[in-house]
Amino acid sequence: MHGECGVGGVACYAPYVWRVMASYNPTMLNIETHCHTDASHDCRVRVEDLVKTARRRGLDRLVVTDHNTISGAVRAQQMDPELIIVGQEIMTEQGELLAFFVSEEVPRDLPPMEAIRLLRAQDAYISVSHPFDPRRGWELRALEAIAPHVDAVEIFNARNILPVYNEAAERFAARFQLGGTAGSDAHTLIEVGRAGMRLPAFKDAASLRAAMPQAQYTKRASGPLIRLASRYAAILNKLR
Ligand SMILES: [Zn+2]
Repeated sequence: MHGECGVGGVACYAPYVWRVMASYNPTMLNIETHCHTDASHDCRVRVEDLVKTARRRGLDRLVVTDHNTISGAVRAQQMDPELIIVGQEIMTEQGELLAFFVSEEVPRDLPPMEAIRLLRAQDAYISVSHPFDPRRGWELRALEAIAPHVDAVEIFNARNILPVYNEAAERFAARFQLGGTAGSDAHTLIEVGRAGMRLPAFKDAASLRAAMPQAQYTKRASGPLIRLASRYAAILNKLR
């Protein structure tokens, strides 16, 4: 096989090496877009442990997205301002939104368009959590109604039990020309970084929107058993 190119094995592989090197851009950032701390009712991960684990796994940016609060994310950002982006997973009357660059907490259980209005007013980046997971997703009509007003939908959530839920989200993003976010939805340290994105450097919602078309994705599912960990955490958190 190597004889065919006439100059030996290394030269034979040169085109492949160049292709891999061209796709590896050291200025790209490794980002985890969806994770929780013990500020969420169903998670027991301490903020300091989350920050340390993210750094150890080589993440450059970590969006902390607790349920209906930014208190854990703000504490995390104080510990590591470069790493942490303050986010929030917000329950609305219809389903959950996943917001990045949140400076003012958005109340839960609002009509979706009211939550979106509050996020837009602070120039947050707005994605939609696991939109097609039937247990925790959106009705199609409600999702179609907000689609023109959000930046992205979550096209890969590592906790979605069936791949079809993620595939449907990817098709929906293409249909409405929306960005796609990928995240682990980590409620335990094991999950941190299982899914995520590589993106050119960004510093706010506007530069994130501009970077999105170049996103590269890491998509590893966490398996169905991992959800038991959050049920267990929810029970323990009620007792504390
Ligand atoms: Zn979540």
